[in-house]
Amino acid sequence: MKEKLNQYISKSKVVRSLKFRIFFIILLVGIVPTTILRYGILQNYEKRAVDVRISDVQTQFKILADHLITYNYLKDPSSEVINAELDQLSNLYDGRVLIVDSNFNVVRDSYGISQGKTIISEEVIRCFKGESITNYDPVNQFIEMTTPISAVLEENGGETAAGPQTQENLVRGVMLTSVSTDSIAANISILSRRATIIQFLMIIVLVGMAWGLSNILVEPFERVSSAISKVQDGFQNEPVSVPDYLETEHIVTAFNELLGRMKVLDESRQEFVSNVSHELKTPITSMKVLADSLIAQEDVPLELYKEFMTDIADEIERENKVINDLLSLVKMDKTAANLNIELIDINALCELILKRLRPIAKQRDIDVILESKREVSAEVDEVKLTLAISNLVENAIKYNNEHGFVKVSLDADYQFFTIEVKDNGLGIPEEELEHIFERFYRVDKSHSREIGGTGLGLSITRSAILMHRGFIKVESEEGSGTTFFVKIPLTYIVK
Ligand code: ADP
Repeated sequence: MKEKLNQYISKSKVVRSLKFRIFFIILLVGIVPTTILRYGILQNYEKRAVDVRISDVQTQFKILADHLITYNYLKDPSSEVINAELDQLSNLYDGRVLIVDSNFNVVRDSYGISQGKTIISEEVIRCFKGESITNYDPVNQFIEMTTPISAVLEENGGETAAGPQTQENLVRGVMLTSVSTDSIAANISILSRRATIIQFLMIIVLVGMAWGLSNILVEPFERVSSAISKVQDGFQNEPVSVPDYLETEHIVTAFNELLGRMKVLDESRQEFVSNVSHELKTPITSMKVLADSLIAQEDVPLELYKEFMTDIADEIERENKVINDLLSLVKMDKTAANLNIELIDINALCELILKRLRPIAKQRDIDVILESKREVSAEVDEVKLTLAISNLVENAIKYNNEHGFVKVSLDADYQFFTIEVKDNGLGIPEEELEHIFERFYRVDKSHSREIGGTGLGLSITRSAILMHRGFIKVESEEGSGTTFFVKIPLTYIVK
């Protein structure tokens, strides 16, 4: 059973191979027409040969029929001339001739078997009515035919067993002939043997041609797969090129594009890993320095201990923040299937976010206002959207001046809702704007670090918004303030 299954799998593998299919098609295209041609020609030859033989025999026997009347053979079958002629014809065509008179008596049988007997067969009766019948039996290889022996005019009239004779119906007797077609069959067999040899030679040539052609035609595809394997094994780094066919070019172009994307992904992964390590190492290095300096000193005053321990606690806090942000980012990077979509009251959501952040704003006397232009309910993931908007408002507070303001406006049309987070804070230099959504990117590294930034906030925000099939853009002027615009569909679009 298992063996059979394995056999089937290996067989189906062969059948599935393009090389085999090309080989098979070429073979089929070569063999089918030649086979049809062979049978067509042989059959045509047979039909033609039989027709020629029939017409030959008919002519000969019509002449003989005339002689039979001339020599009045039906009444007196002793004519030596006719008998000799009969023998000659039956020898020539390797056949048998029976001459039947109008009373259905066999006057003469060239085989000498049925002489004197009576023959009443359909063919004979029909022949008496003037119908000449020809039958070819390809199995037993003979032609059977009837030839009427017609009288000349002055012999017309009178009654015969075959029916009343009129002027038009002057049949006096019937000649029943069976002629062998052995010679035709022999010719066909010779021709067929030759055709078989030619066909066999053709098949050998075709197999060679099909094999060669299938190899040549499939070769570029094999080169594509070997080039891809080389890239996979790391032996080749350059883009693959197999321009032989349009198809191979398409495959190779698609592969090169994929390769390029994978390279970019790999580079960004490496950069991310090095950034993460750096971000995680910085607080640890600080803590180590602080701890080492405490250990190195003898009789350290308690205040210094307290101060250094506070710094260490700050660094731990920072480390914790980076790790939390990284976890949020990883969650955002996962597929949209992880979204927990619900119909949420966005006004209430914004209200809650601002309520949570107001105490921080208050520390620097920053005014946080919510402007709800209409009631908005939308299908969103509450946790992820809260994180996204919180980050924007937090940034607007963080990168603001004392006594500044943050204004959050909520609006909607029939398809989207928009949230605008505007501040009159530090602003972002124009050349930095395109980078602020990158992971770990901070405009002013030391300032951002000072106020507890990880550089991950905006990438988390952007990922969350993209997951909702929305988009985010920023406008900013250094020294004047920044505005973030967010637009998200009211109904979640499943792709
Ligand atoms: P961070 O944790 O440093 O705040 P983000 O990804 O949230 O990281 O922001 C990236 C950088 O963009 C910040 O370091 C800051 O320089 C700049 N930025 C973000 N929001 C504002 C804003 N409202 N005003 C000015 N600069 C901002």
